[in-house]
Amino acid sequence: MTTRTDPIAARVRNLEESPTLAISAKAKALRAAGEDVIGFGAGEPDFPTPAHVVAAAQQACADPAMHRYTATAGLPALREAIAAKTDRDSGLTVTPSQVLVTNGGKQALLAAFTTLVDDGDEVLVPAPYWVTYPEQIRLSGGTPVPLPTGADAGYRVTLDQLEAALTPRTKVLLFVSPSNPTGAVYPPEEVAAIGRWAAEHDLWVITDEIYEHLVYGDARHVSMPVVAPEVADRCLVTNGVAKTYAMTGWRVGWTLGPADVVTRMANLQSHQTGNVGNVSQMAALAAVSGPLDVVEEMRATYDRRRRTAHAALSAIPGVTCPLPEGAFYVFPDVSGVLGREVGGTRVATSVELCAVLLEQARVALVPGEAFGMPGSLRLSYALADDDLERGLARIADALA
Ligand code: GLU
Repeated sequence: MTTRTDPIAARVRNLEESPTLAISAKAKALRAAGEDVIGFGAGEPDFPTPAHVVAAAQQACADPAMHRYTATAGLPALREAIAAKTDRDSGLTVTPSQVLVTNGGKQALLAAFTTLVDDGDEVLVPAPYWVTYPEQIRLSGGTPVPLPTGADAGYRVTLDQLEAALTPRTKVLLFVSPSNPTGAVYPPEEVAAIGRWAAEHDLWVITDEIYEHLVYGDARHVSMPVVAPEVADRCLVTNGVAKTYAMTGWRVGWTLGPADVVTRMANLQSHQTGNVGNVSQMAALAAVSGPLDVVEEMRATYDRRRRTAHAALSAIPGVTCPLPEGAFYVFPDVSGVLGREVGGTRVATSVELCAVLLEQARVALVPGEAFGMPGSLRLSYALADDDLERGLARIADALA
């Protein structure tokens, strides 16, 4: 008998399923089985995609030209519309040749890491971080270097921290504002200072601007290459339609960058996936070239839910909950609850707390461990008001 060794390649062997998607899938499966589970897991707008976007997709379905392969880097009209939308929304001027249309923001990031990161290169990643960044960096052969930030620093990385983490292998800084999972938004002068610092050290910057429109109160989103033009020719900006237009399932994102780098990324994509689905691209075209009032309506609703979630969580003894300024997440510190009994079970970690909350309170949350910050939890408040309120009440009861 021959011994069968693990056929899985090393780069995939230690890879776990995305915890945000796994928790969301579990909550959806429990609901489909008739269980009254409230999902605070994956950040996914509960709104339907705007009607004019759906209508554009329906029309595209009937057009035989959309049944064929199209240009790998994206439909020319969409690349043009993304360039125009970028100028409108963040003041960054790019030509269509600087736009690569990708299969969601996730693939935009993977394309960026794969294109820039060589074996052994280090990528600075402010923590807590979105679950997928370190995995994509490792898949590209790089080493993620987490830079922990706390609630006291507003979950924002400082120049001192960046400076201290710099080594001869540092190649890229990943910069995210508004942040997933904390909702932190960097003030314009901090974005500019970090961009200038990166340029001075000849680093590349990959920015994730997927939550650009979801900012609240006095917070304002600025694009790093706009406020720090020094770094513009060493910066890849990623974005997409998912969060702004409630289009998570359509899978359309993009990367913007210097035209020669974008061409290399398109070469890569020509072997990996080819063009993004044309029907989705036509939907994205209607979204980015359409009005922003529908976005404003959703933003105002998230703002209201943000305050509801923040107030309810802050009122729980042992829970510290900074008021987030962007995205649609709250990231409470629950270390004051750990070590106690919750529903008859002693919980020592935020992973255990999430398991007990799902089991006994029927609420699905993501533990801070997934984001490199044990002792915290992430809740998405992009869910219906009624579910939000019932879910928050369940959490408060369980932790009372
Ligand atoms: N970005 C969202 C989240 O963090 C979507 C789920 C995912 O792909 O991780 O929940």
